[in-house]
Amino acid sequence: MTPEELKALVRTVPDFPAPGILFRDITTLISHGTGLAASIGHLARMAQDAGAEAIAGMEARGFIFGAAVAAHMGLGFVPVRKPGKLPVKTIGIDYALEYGRDRLEIDPTAIPAGQRVVIIDDLIATGGTALAATELLRTAGADVTHALFVIDLPDLHGAARLRDAGLTVEALMD
Ligand code: IMP
Repeated sequence: MTPEELKALVRTVPDFPAPGILFRDITTLISHGTGLAASIGHLARMAQDAGAEAIAGMEARGFIFGAAVAAHMGLGFVPVRKPGKLPVKTIGIDYALEYGRDRLEIDPTAIPAGQRVVIIDDLIATGGTALAATELLRTAGADVTHALFVIDLPDLHGAARLRDAGLTVEALMD
């Protein structure tokens, strides 16, 4: 399936999680077997071109796409987790959301120094989550040069923020 055909499988839900927000929902994309396989295939090709040696994905929807891409490529997967979930000593980063703050944590021993780690998430909006993940992975010694997404919301300029941080940003669809 082409990215244009995959876009038709994404559902738009108004007023979620708050009034006035149009939520782009990948549930309908991943419940479509051919759509899921094609999404993983496209992302894996992009990760291959990026020279990925490992894949990192953000909890929770980044796990769905990131782990599938990693398995497809025979690479390891690094989970970038919400706080308090990992049972070992972690490193973490606090970052600003549109309203409030959040935190991401990783197990730094999951990444050999200098390894090329490609970030995958379902969607980039303001880019705050992916920027925080990039900083965290770089602190752990990863070589982070590419971030891949299923969906980019270009009006929120997240991709531009990531490019300013030296990342190549690609998405299957806007
Ligand atoms: P950002 O940090 O503003 O770029 O927001 C991206 C993060 O929020 C990602 O982890 C997404 O999963 C989630 N997110 C924000 N908006 C949406 C949406 O419309 N649909 C699905 N996830 C979203």
